[in-house]
Amino acid sequence: MNIKRGHTVKILAGKDRNKTGKVLSVNAKTGRVVVEGINIVTRHERSKKAGTKGQIIQLPGPMHLAKVQLLCPHCGKPTRIGLVCKHCGKEIK
Ligand SMILES: [Zn+2]
Repeated sequence: MNIKRGHTVKILAGKDRNKTGKVLSVNAKTGRVVVEGINIVTRHERSKKAGTKGQIIQLPGPMHLAKVQLLCPHCGKPTRIGLVCKHCGKEIK
């Protein structure tokens, strides 16, 4: 697992293709990542108490790691997941 929380990634597939966002969480078990502002899913939260309104909550949904590409935090270019960016030669942490 080379993509970590806080990395910036580019979306390669789906409705948010070509967008970039920050990784909010990585689930190594399922191979999925949650990226800020990407793959938004809407949830309707039912009201728990009588007389109060339910809420609509929008959250970024998990997506498969294969659909994102790591961007170098130094030069912003897509890079192979590795330790050193091939564009600027800087280490990716
Ligand atoms: Zn770079």
